[in-house]
Amino acid sequence: EPVLEARAVAKHFPVGRHGVVRAVEDATLALLPGRIVALVGESGSGKTTLARVLARFYPPTSGEVLLHGQSSGGRDYHGDVQLIFQDPFGSLNPLHRVRYNLERALRLHHGTRDRRELERQVLELLERVSLTPARDYVDKFPHELSGGQRQRVVIARALAVRPKVLLGDEPISMLDVSIRLDMLNLLARLRDENGLALLYITHDIAGARYLCDDIVVMYAGRMIEGGPKEEVIARPRHPYTKLLIESSPDPDRGEDERAALFADADELGEPPSLANPPAGCRFHPRCPFAMPECEQSPPPRTELGGGHWAHCWLHHKGRAGELASTTHAA
Ligand code: SF4
Repeated sequence: EPVLEARAVAKHFPVGRHGVVRAVEDATLALLPGRIVALVGESGSGKTTLARVLARFYPPTSGEVLLHGQSSGGRDYHGDVQLIFQDPFGSLNPLHRVRYNLERALRLHHGTRDRRELERQVLELLERVSLTPARDYVDKFPHELSGGQRQRVVIARALAVRPKVLLGDEPISMLDVSIRLDMLNLLARLRDENGLALLYITHDIAGARYLCDDIVVMYAGRMIEGGPKEEVIARPRHPYTKLLIESSPDPDRGEDERAALFADADELGEPPSLANPPAGCRFHPRCPFAMPECEQSPPPRTELGGGHWAHCWLHHKGRAGELASTTHAA
């Protein structure tokens, strides 16, 4: 059973007197306990907006967000769903020590008041995120910690709430490259030990490939492909997913093996403005396979088997083989 679901969610923002930015359209997603979904896309693809709708920071313009199958009522929503931001420094109160930042979450969400119990739980939380020995960190201010240590404190604070779902919005992108792998391993451990449902938002296919069970790709506000990560990465069935994968560094692939079709991603131009997105398939101005129908109607979802799906007219026109034939073996 999904813990958290988006059903046909759209989020639009008014701009100027008559404009509208269509940041997210028709997003459907289910987060399951003990599984990590990567939401992958370029900046401006709508993934952060969707995370904020899922976290109920914004109401959806249409569609619904269901927690435990319910759209509202009764529950402490942020007791179950926690959002971790990109910038760990901005997420912590700089005037307070680590102890205060964690105790506050324990007090607010669980009413814990006993001093000794608070101390025990704070130390345990720091150990869970591998800040050990915990007593060395508990009385530090955020500015006395490295970026990676701060992000661990942010995760510890999220865990203090005992959530069922963690939404990580590019949680490692501002950290030093040398500690990113440690953070991914920490997130994987939290999934395994606590059965958390995790949404990992990133523009980095390599990180998604390492950490996640499933991948969903967004382009210009729409979900365009998704499924188990091995399937999506080995056999991308949407030209944009293929572009992302072929453009990402892959230690197993030499430069000369890079698909000729997408030899230079920059030549394909920029993603479209969400204030005035292209009609039909939003990728059509950049797509080497575009057909007349691509400019007229958004492609419907095609189920490809094994939980793999894509939105692309190629699958309705008997041309899917053209894309598959250029796919490198993962
Ligand atoms: Fe390309 Fe058309 Fe598929 Fe869009 S629907 S990705 S334009 S082939």
